[in-house]
Amino acid sequence: MKRRKTQSKSEILAALKTSGGALSHDMLQSTLGTTIDRATIYRVLNRFCEDGMVHRIIGDDGKQYFAICENCGEKKEMHTHNHVHFRCMKCGKVECLKSTPEIDLPKGYQAKMFNMVISGVCGDCTLI
Ligand SMILES: [Zn+2]
Ligand SMILES: [Zn+2]
Ligand SMILES: [Zn+2]
Repeated sequence: MKRRKTQSKSEILAALKTSGGALSHDMLQSTLGTTIDRATIYRVLNRFCEDGMVHRIIGDDGKQYFAICENCGEKKEMHTHNHVHFRCMKCGKVECLKSTPEIDLPKGYQAKMFNMVISGVCGDCTLI
């Protein structure tokens, strides 16, 4: 059974990589099909988050989305993302944007998590 675990891990990672954006549990489930059960997807995603391979985004719809981390892996500390995410309200896709806004925190405050999601309509959906 060990082999199957590793297999689900790499399948989930591959799905996230090829999507080029963030995926919810449901999106992953429909991409991967029924070969991987829901509990495994949850477990693997949580592990990826802890390992700094994937970061979690909470959408304005209250759902959790997961996207590949660019450079958190080696540090294994807290994720230090400060980029903005965009969720398309038409097609539902969630993207990591390059934009990193400067937020002035009061003196002595430390940011540990940054969750900023802009909701709107993506370029593909505006064209239709
Ligand atoms: Zn990260
Ligand atoms: Zn869209
Ligand atoms: Zn992101």
